[in-house]
Amino acid sequence: MRFPAVISMLTLSLLVACNIGVPHQPYKLSGIPKFDKDSAYSFIEKQVSYGPRVPGSAAHDSCALFLISKLKSYGLTVDTQRFSAIRYDSLPLNGINIFASLNPEKKRRILLFAHWDSRFMAERDTDSLMRHRPILGANDGGSGTAVLLELARVMSKHPPKIGVDFLFLDLEDQGPVETKALLDFYKYWGLGAKYWAIHKPPAYKPLWGLELDLVGAKKAKFSIEDYSLYYYGYLIKKIWEIGQTLGYDTLFVEYRSHGLFDDHVVINEYAHIRSVLIIENLPHKYFGSYWHTQQDNLQIIDSNVLGAVGQTVLTTIYNIR
Ligand SMILES: [Zn+2]
Repeated sequence: MRFPAVISMLTLSLLVACNIGVPHQPYKLSGIPKFDKDSAYSFIEKQVSYGPRVPGSAAHDSCALFLISKLKSYGLTVDTQRFSAIRYDSLPLNGINIFASLNPEKKRRILLFAHWDSRFMAERDTDSLMRHRPILGANDGGSGTAVLLELARVMSKHPPKIGVDFLFLDLEDQGPVETKALLDFYKYWGLGAKYWAIHKPPAYKPLWGLELDLVGAKKAKFSIEDYSLYYYGYLIKKIWEIGQTLGYDTLFVEYRSHGLFDDHVVINEYAHIRSVLIIENLPHKYFGSYWHTQQDNLQIIDSNVLGAVGQTVLTTIYNIR
């Protein structure tokens, strides 16, 4: 996850009645497959076991192989996109985006995405000696990836009516310590998302996209992120309603936060896929104190949070008409 953008967008609530996607209440709550929070947790453990998944490292390559083989084992069609990008300080980076499809023959599709790289430094660590070291990214990178993997596992056993694509994006979190200008966010962050969006097949038009980032920390709260409200307010509100209906109202809180520059902004602007973001976004505080520090490890993960997010996303998907 990148630094919070200080720009609060002038949002127009896009309460457009949609024929596609998620219907109005009442939501179907029975017959929804069960998201296994312990399985999701084990996927974070596995990623972290490789070490920081920083581009160019052995851990990065090993983790990519793990993701690809897991997705294939669930019967998904997997495409691997290798690409190069330049970091803000001119360092060349090699990235790997992974795109996996369930029900590839279906025309009506949705896109779920998360970044899987981990950050190369811990600039917010209180210990200055630790700041130059890469982070494990159990939550930042690890959690969204783990929830996506578990969703793929569950949905492959109980295929929904629509097609579902899972996009694991690289080079999201390799930006500088501080970014201020909006155009610099586009230059330095979300590099894998940008590459994918520019090179995706023109005919690929899912109904919508959903990004997961920082979705597993203890005491997390998810407030409605302003860019999501702007790009597809109808969808983000439906997800919040469904999360609250499932009893996760202490997680999906009624609070509207500043816009955060994450891969969903790039996917909206470059791929023109209406996309929203579920992210830990504590009212008035943005993220937990572990963020971009060496404390972003398994100790701060709560499998119940992973489970709540996963079950909410599953319920949203199986409510699509
Ligand atoms: Zn980050």
